[in-house]
Amino acid sequence: MSVLKDLLSPEDCAKCQFCCSFRRCSLWESPVFLPEEIEKLKANYPDVKFKKINNNGCEGYMIDVDDQYKTDDSEEEVFCAFNKGKGCIMSKEDKSFECSAWPFRVMKKDGKNVIGLCKDCRVFAKIDMDRIKSLLDSGLAKQLYDYAAKNPVVIRDYRENYKVVS
Ligand code: SF4
Ligand code: SF4
Repeated sequence: MSVLKDLLSPEDCAKCQFCCSFRRCSLWESPVFLPEEIEKLKANYPDVKFKKINNNGCEGYMIDVDDQYKTDDSEEEVFCAFNKGKGCIMSKEDKSFECSAWPFRVMKKDGKNVIGLCKDCRVFAKIDMDRIKSLLDSGLAKQLYDYAAKNPVVIRDYRENYKVVS
């Protein structure tokens, strides 16, 4: 989403890489790809492994990095399979909706869909809430909710490291 890319500079993200690496205990955060996207991804990135998931009664795929961990430590961190150490190698066309929408995601809280903003994104942590609200009101919230309604596989249970912003 270009509106988010305007706020996230490639330089900031290259220095951070927080959302492109996963501790074992935060694998639930890794992006979901839709069944209709997977064949093209497998063809374009033959060395990346995926695993099938089912969430909210809907099928999808996640990157499978299980064999990259060297210990049983839940805090051990490995790069996303699309991050070869210098950021994401995926083309803009191939990028999942979730990666494009980060650090926002639709979450289920108290039986309702809400939009969560990840508190760990160092760039968004410095943006004031009025600007974030106006970004959401300018169409981003609708885009997120519409996508989640059509593809409920992306809706995650609410976690404390997210701030509810819509
Ligand atoms: S957490 Fe935020 S600043 Fe860090 S890489 Fe992700 S989008 Fe960029
Ligand atoms: S697919 Fe790319 S943008 Fe998404 S988490 Fe992996 S490295 Fe980051």
